[in-house]
Amino acid sequence: MYILFLGPPGSGKGTYSRVASDVLKIPILATGDMLRNEVEKGTELGRTAERCINAGELVPDEVMFGIIENVLSHRDYQNGVIFDGFPRTLAQAKMLDEILDNMGTKVNVVIELFSTDDEIVERLSNRRVCPKCGRIYHLINMPPKVDEICDDDGEKLIQREDDKPDTIRNRLKVYHSQTAPIIEYYKEKDDILYLEIDTNGPPEVGRNRMLDEFRKIGLIN
Ligand code: ADP
Repeated sequence: MYILFLGPPGSGKGTYSRVASDVLKIPILATGDMLRNEVEKGTELGRTAERCINAGELVPDEVMFGIIENVLSHRDYQNGVIFDGFPRTLAQAKMLDEILDNMGTKVNVVIELFSTDDEIVERLSNRRVCPKCGRIYHLINMPPKVDEICDDDGEKLIQREDDKPDTIRNRLKVYHSQTAPIIEYYKEKDDILYLEIDTNGPPEVGRNRMLDEFRKIGLIN
């Protein structure tokens, strides 16, 4: 099964895609994590990505095409993927349809997460991540057990460079102009299940809303 998470930065894609991956046993492909990994390794791709990420801009479509095509050919992803952060432009959405079509499959479910801009800014500024495993924390709503340390592997948590107020505002602008148009693209397809989840409020409330929707469409019991 191929599932996409759509929504502005800070709407909860990283957190909720992990929940979905746990309950559905489908691997996640998080393009933001993949790109940050390349930045960390200092590859050529990493250097291109770093400039875009820090400015709150998107990495060019041609670069993303190469990455996705390559990664989807891996056998871990032959039976399904939960995409977090991809596609982000209409061109990426169309390209994904083409690749999946060549694999004899298609996007089955689109999950749109939404939140108010105020809550998004509050969440992103309190967000901390584990540089090793990518687990996401919120200093107030989802804090680690030990201050600033990852519960899973003891690493010191970091704040993402692009979670600074100016970059957050640009990321929201980019979302509304470049990514939001793909919402209509998917809504118009009648062979896709389209779920809308309100993620305002504490994470466990949104989590239950999502799991209720999964039950309604028979994804879980
Ligand atoms: P968020 O959804 O919170 O902005 P991500 O980790 O998904 O965080 O993405 C961080 C950055 O990585 C984006 O602002 C963008 O620069 C880059 N990026 C991630 N996925 C894509 C993509 N599919 N296309 C282009 N750029 C991407």
